[in-house]
Amino acid sequence: MRGRIFSGMRPSGRLHLGNYLGALQNWVDLQSDYECIYSAVDVHALTDMQGDVTKEIKPNINEMVLDWLAAGVDPDSSIVFVQSHVREVMILHSILSMVTPMGWLMRVPTFKEKVRQMHETEETVSYGLVGYPVLMTSDIILYKADTVPVGEDQLPHIELAREIVRRFNNLYGETFPEPQAKVTNNPVILGLDGKNKMSKSLQNHVELAYSEEETIARIRTAFTDPERLKRSDPGRPEICNIYTLQKYFNSDKLDEIYRRCTSADIGCVEDKQMLADSINEKLADFRERRRELADRTDYLEQVLGDGAAKARLIAQETLSEVLDRMNLSVR
Ligand code: ADP
Repeated sequence: MRGRIFSGMRPSGRLHLGNYLGALQNWVDLQSDYECIYSAVDVHALTDMQGDVTKEIKPNINEMVLDWLAAGVDPDSSIVFVQSHVREVMILHSILSMVTPMGWLMRVPTFKEKVRQMHETEETVSYGLVGYPVLMTSDIILYKADTVPVGEDQLPHIELAREIVRRFNNLYGETFPEPQAKVTNNPVILGLDGKNKMSKSLQNHVELAYSEEETIARIRTAFTDPERLKRSDPGRPEICNIYTLQKYFNSDKLDEIYRRCTSADIGCVEDKQMLADSINEKLADFRERRRELADRTDYLEQVLGDGAAKARLIAQETLSEVLDRMNLSVR
């Protein structure tokens, strides 16, 4: 039997090259070996989107899911759905909160970092943010996923999910499989500032769905080697982020680019143009498909409706098993 994968992305809108190389490409590939469940995790988004900005969640979901589908996530073989459309996850979250000690949550290394990033303190941080890994666990085990693709930094979350599962199973009998982490060696892509991880919030990103012109204009703004002041100065590809991106988009010309940059045969302007041209060429089919899908009226709605229906079937079965075991069933 094929393993079952669960993975989610927060609805951040149109995805960028970092999301693609660091996650989405892998999602597409996993479909050949696993039964995959991919979710736009909008409830998770509420940890940092509150009040009026929640209006952005729905359009963000649509833009993001269009990117998934255009990149090759196949809604016929994978379940593609929006987290909040299957309400059972919130009930399971509440139930799992009862078996999860606070100490486990406070120990998660990403917790303290997240509190700092959000300019919160342990006094002001929301209960929901503390329980974020419990909601993540609920997502995974509600669908009885046995495999979760994660980067190294997410391993503590999966370890916590396994501890919660073990505790639940000990208390109420074998109900959930212990999910296994599938550590992905996906690269972390730096942004156009050459310093930080590519991210929309830092505005150092390149969207997959940009037009060719937007891509070129955006890549032109990228930082390269700060010591290369004149066109005749030799470049240092090893510290230049444009060169790093060339590894993904011009892998066949990498030696040539290295040689021509270090000998000042090409300047940063030509180097960036080569990169932008290649990104445009490699994403041409993706962009075409994305336009076609966006033009199909009701297509997204249909995909997400079907996905939620399939996910709900699994979720309802799991939840009634859980409620039975906890003596909370209505029958
Ligand atoms: P999350 O959904 O985990 O909150 P994001 O919305 O930031 O995170 O990104 C979605 C996916 O893209 C995640 O798997 C994340 O690791 C990956 N990702 C985001 N930015 C980058 C980047 N600059 N390089 C590589 N992977 C990235």
